[in-house]
Amino acid sequence: MRASDSHEAPPLSPFAPRRGAHRAWGGPARDAVTEPFIHLDGVAKTYGSGARAHLAISNASFDVMPGELACLVGPSGCGKSTLLKILSGLHPHDAGTVRIGSAANPFDPARDIGMVFQQPLLLKWRTILDNVLLPAEILGLAVKESRERGRDLLKLVGLAGAEDKRPYELSGGMQQRAAIARALVHDPKLVLMDEPFGALDALTREKMNLELLRIWKESGKTILFVTHGISEAVFLGSRVVVLTAGPAKMADDFLIDLPYPRTLDMKTHEAFGVYTRRIYKLLGME
Ligand code: ADP
Repeated sequence: MRASDSHEAPPLSPFAPRRGAHRAWGGPARDAVTEPFIHLDGVAKTYGSGARAHLAISNASFDVMPGELACLVGPSGCGKSTLLKILSGLHPHDAGTVRIGSAANPFDPARDIGMVFQQPLLLKWRTILDNVLLPAEILGLAVKESRERGRDLLKLVGLAGAEDKRPYELSGGMQQRAAIARALVHDPKLVLMDEPFGALDALTREKMNLELLRIWKESGKTILFVTHGISEAVFLGSRVVVLTAGPAKMADDFLIDLPYPRTLDMKTHEAFGVYTRRIYKLLGME
């Protein structure tokens, strides 16, 4: 980890003020929000057909409220990425209902999604700021405002001063911060994160978890975070959805009633252990 990985960003706000009081878990007060932002009911997905058919998801049903940080946790091959691809519109589902947004909180799939992947996937010939601006360019957003927003987001993710650098000049953790800024530049309502810290070393990963919680709180975004890290899911999530493999199915969905801001020492608290044991048990590891 480079020194700049531990840079603390000032609490800037490139986000418009959100309506609704924020609860301890970071999302809007539940009594002010009755409709989920994401609603899945009985969702199933099979890849291929005939002898080559492979059931990737069976009967996934869960809701995510606006402003929640929901973690999808399970072993490799249990269908986590498939669920994200269904939500992002990349793959169709075969059965069940998938609804994002509501009458009060409409969702435009063409512009309301930001994605973060395991690899930062920055274009090496572009500067960091120009990488961050890519979704804004694709969507044809106003150039001046987007550049301002891109700069503010780079401050938010702790990369002030890196605007004109190229990706190769940044560490893995810093590149992933830039990827998070890129996912937020068009102010999407939903951010889908597919094991975004999976390729980072353990210490940088812990640091990025704390940073993500800060960015989430600051932005008020609804985030769906995929991980196979049980401890990471409990540490981050206001809600955890557990998926099992062989055969793929949804095992449970529950709220994590630990206060925010979360601190690393919470991992040693009894309640944290209760949640992680519950997930280990669901995954047949106890
Ligand atoms: P996870 O993200 O939990 O590791 P995935 O959603 O990537 O799981 O995959 C779930 C299952 O579906 C795996 O067995 C995988 O091999 C299979 N799978 C994923 N994508 C495809 C695809 N495009 N075609 C066929 N099988 C796929």
